[in-house]
Amino acid sequence: GRTLVADGALRARAEAVVPGGVYGHLRVTADRGMPPSYPQFFARGSGARLWDVDGNEYVDLMCAFGPMVAGYANPVVDAAARAQLALGDALTGPGEKYVEYAERLVGTVAHADWAMFAKNGTDATSMSVVIARAATGRTKLLKAEKAYHGANPWFTPSTAGVVGSDRADIVEFDYDDLASLERAAASVEGDVAAIVVTPFRHDGFVDQHFPSAEFARGVRALADRTGAALILDEVRTTFRVDLAGAWERFGVRPDLTAMSKALANGHALSAVVGVDSLREAAASIFVTGSFWMAGVPFAAAIATLDWMVQTDGLTRMLDAGQVLRDGLQAQASAHGLGVVQTGPTSMPFLRFEDEPRLETAIAFTDAAARRGVLVHPWHNMFVSAAHTPEDIATVLERTDEAFAEVARSR
Ligand code: PMP
Repeated sequence: GRTLVADGALRARAEAVVPGGVYGHLRVTADRGMPPSYPQFFARGSGARLWDVDGNEYVDLMCAFGPMVAGYANPVVDAAARAQLALGDALTGPGEKYVEYAERLVGTVAHADWAMFAKNGTDATSMSVVIARAATGRTKLLKAEKAYHGANPWFTPSTAGVVGSDRADIVEFDYDDLASLERAAASVEGDVAAIVVTPFRHDGFVDQHFPSAEFARGVRALADRTGAALILDEVRTTFRVDLAGAWERFGVRPDLTAMSKALANGHALSAVVGVDSLREAAASIFVTGSFWMAGVPFAAAIATLDWMVQTDGLTRMLDAGQVLRDGLQAQASAHGLGVVQTGPTSMPFLRFEDEPRLETAIAFTDAAARRGVLVHPWHNMFVSAAHTPEDIATVLERTDEAFAEVARSR
C-alpha cells in the first residue's frame, strides 16, 4: 500500500524550523479540511503527473493551484528558461525579453495598451489598486464579499496581524448583485478609486458561477459613470477562460487586468495590463522588486504563451475538463451520490449535495489521494493543457473506485 513516511518526517522537520510548517494555501492539515492521506511534500512533476517525496505517483488536478498550465517540466518552456538562465536571470537591468513579453501581452489581451510586471498575484492586484488611486486621487475600493484578491493586509481572509485601518477603505458588495454594488458605490459616493472583481465567482466552499452579462455590463457602466477604474482580477483565470480577456464573452473590457499563476507555467511572474488612459498614472507610481525584471520568467512566459496558442491549449484543456466532468457525474450517480459540479471545465469545482461539514468531500479527497489522484474538498481544481485523454481516463478509473468506497461507507 501507499505510505507517507518521508512526508511525515519532512512535516516534523518543517514544524521545527518554519512557523506552522507550511503556511498559506499550500498547507495540508486537518484543520483545513484535508485528509491525512493527502501528501504535503512533492519531489517531482512531469506533464500532468506528480510524485510525492515517498515516490507515490498522482495525476494532479490541482496544477500547483493554477501555475501549471502547460505541464510540469514542459520541455519547450523549460528549454527556453534554461537558455535564458545560461545567459543570466536577475541582472542590473531588464533584457530584451521584458519588452518582447510586454509586446506579446499587449497583442494578446484585448484591452491591453501596456503591461507592467511583478512576481505574485498579490503584487498585481495591489499595483492595480495603486494605479487606480494615483489616477483618480480617490481612496475607496469596492470588492465582492469573500472574494480573494491576495494575501496582503487589504485582502487576506485572516485578521491576525491586520488592523482596522488596513481595511478601512474597502467597501464590500455581493457578487453578481448589481443593486448591492450600486449601494456600495453610493455609500462612498465621489471617492471610489476602483472596483475590483474576479471574472467569475470562484470563492472556496460554494458553487462557482459566471455573473450575468447584465452584472458585468453594469460594473463597466458604474465605473464609467463614477470615473472609477474597473480592475479585473484574472490571477486565477489567466489562460483558463479566454486569452483575450475573461469578460470578452460579455463584451466588457476592464481598465486594468491583474494576471499571474499560469503566465509562465510555474516560473514566478505576474502582470498588470491596462488601457492608455491609465498609462500616465501607471508610470507615476513607484513599484519594483529585486527579482521583478529577471529574464528567466519572461523567457518561460513567452514560450508558455506560444505553446498555448500553437497547440490550442485552452480548447484542449476545456475539452479534457468536460470529459472529466461528464465522467465524474456519471460515476457519482451510478454510486448513488449526489454531486454538483460548477465553474468552467478548466477550473472544476465539485461538491456533494447537502453536507455543510464536508464529510463526504473529505472522504472522497482521501479515497482519491490513496489511489493516486489529487483533488480538493473545497477549493476549485485546475485542469491543464497537459492533461491528455489518457490522464483523464486514468483519473476516472481511480475516481470510480474512490466514489465506490465513499458510497459503501455511507
Ligand atoms: N487573486 C486571485 C483571484 C487569486 O486566486 C490569487 C491566488 N490564489 C491571488 C489574487 C493572489 O495571488 P498570489 O498568491 O500569487 O499572490
